[in-house]
Amino acid sequence: MKPNLLSGIQPTGRLHLGNYLGALDNFVKLQNSGRYNCFFFIADLHSLTEDFKPKDKSKQILSLLADYLAAGLNPKKSTIFIQSHIPANSELAWILNTITPFGELSRMTQFKDKSKDQASNINIGLFSYPILMTADVILYDANFVPVGEDQIQHLELSRTLTRKFNKRFGKTFIEPQPLLTEVPRLMSLNNPDKKMSKSQPQGCIFVDDSPATIKKKIMTATTDSGIEVKYDLKKKAGISNLITIYAALSEKNIKGVEKEFKGENYSVFKKSLANLINQHFSDHRKKKKQLLASPSKLKRITNQGDKKANKIANAKINKVKDQLGLL
Ligand code: AMP
Repeated sequence: MKPNLLSGIQPTGRLHLGNYLGALDNFVKLQNSGRYNCFFFIADLHSLTEDFKPKDKSKQILSLLADYLAAGLNPKKSTIFIQSHIPANSELAWILNTITPFGELSRMTQFKDKSKDQASNINIGLFSYPILMTADVILYDANFVPVGEDQIQHLELSRTLTRKFNKRFGKTFIEPQPLLTEVPRLMSLNNPDKKMSKSQPQGCIFVDDSPATIKKKIMTATTDSGIEVKYDLKKKAGISNLITIYAALSEKNIKGVEKEFKGENYSVFKKSLANLINQHFSDHRKKKKQLLASPSKLKRITNQGDKKANKIANAKINKVKDQLGLL
């Protein structure tokens, strides 16, 4: 039997290049490798931990779903579903709450960072986020979870909780392993010491940005006073980040990119990079637009995925309740 692989992205706005290179692009490659039984979901319950307007939420969900499909996730090959349509996820999260040590959860750096970013809305959901994430993953016996580096600490906690549950109540869950991409941490364009994040939109390239916007963002990306297109994370963090993007999208290695631009200045390199990004996402933009033109078709796709996911999730949550001695 193939190992299970599961991951999700929050529908919190527009998908940026960090989400794409750190997660979605890899989801598609892993799906197409044929080596895994894949599940990909829209993490809409997680996204409620950030400020939002209800009238925008359904649009954000459909937009992310369209991104999934435009990038190449295929409902014939993967189970694609919506987190809030699977009641067992939330039930299991509550149960896991009861075995999660407060001290351990308090160490999560993402909670600390997000608390600073959204100081007026430090809610308990933001704090207990890794518990819901654990439920999402272990409910489907996921062996592998492809994520960016920012999720490694959360997955470590998932592994701890899984071991704890199994030890106390009998072997029920599989310990999940993270799968990192070659770009586990893409940095912000205008602040290359910080990761690209939509809380700082000025430093993001969004996958559906227009070609003119992409060009402007790349041409004004922070670099240094040097002239050589050379990868050096310590001295040339900005240019190194741009080289990383170029390498990932052209499927070259870093050395190959340095060689291609040997003797060229930053401006020439940046123009080529802007063109490369535009070309890479031109099909994506068209497909996304077409998909968003028929929301009912998008909903049908997740309805099928929801059904499959619910079947697995319900069987597992019933087993969990038995293990706990619930009637
Ligand atoms: P989120 O928007 O928090 O749901 O993140 C979706 C996925 O994108 C997760 O797997 C993150 O680890 C990944 N991700 C987010 N930002 C970055 C980044 N700057 N570089 C690489 N991966 C990222």
